[in-house]
Amino acid sequence: MQNYTSLVNRQHPLDATYIPCDLVVCEFPFCAERHEEKRLLCETAAEAAGRLLEYGKSFGHLLYGVSGYRSFERQNQIYQQRLQESPAEEVNQYVARPGTSEHQTGLALDISSPGMDYELEEEFGETPEGKWLAVYAPMFGFILRYPRGKEKITGYAYEPWHIRYVGKSLSLYLALTGLTLEEYYDI
Ligand SMILES: [Zn+2]
Repeated sequence: MQNYTSLVNRQHPLDATYIPCDLVVCEFPFCAERHEEKRLLCETAAEAAGRLLEYGKSFGHLLYGVSGYRSFERQNQIYQQRLQESPAEEVNQYVARPGTSEHQTGLALDISSPGMDYELEEEFGETPEGKWLAVYAPMFGFILRYPRGKEKITGYAYEPWHIRYVGKSLSLYLALTGLTLEEYYDI
């Protein structure tokens, strides 16, 4: 049984062997082929994301999934590859060490838009789609996991594209209080 509210970060890593039991292929618009690992999400999160994106369409916002589930092995590949290209300090700001990525939970989803060329960039937060996502994601059980101004608390740079499924009661609570998941567990 999935724990939708679990805290995963540098201090609370997942086991290397952890694989969510109920991964399904996302059926909403996605920048990945059906066979690709990153198109997977836990079933409840996938259904909620589908409804969220569908609702966005009714506002005229085209939102696409870019990256969902990521296995420990894949995260390790990405991390090692980035270490070859950039200093560790910089890499650690943007790329999670294997085991510490929320994407391994199957509950995190990166989202972008055609206007952004489907890239995951900070500017997404300033687009109509990015602003809409920040407001409406909590109504579907998602939070913007790495908000601006909370970098020191989450340990991550502002990521307007990364949403995390926590279930609707917690997402609404966090949206109303402005708390991050870290602060919620600190109380
Ligand atoms: Zn992400």
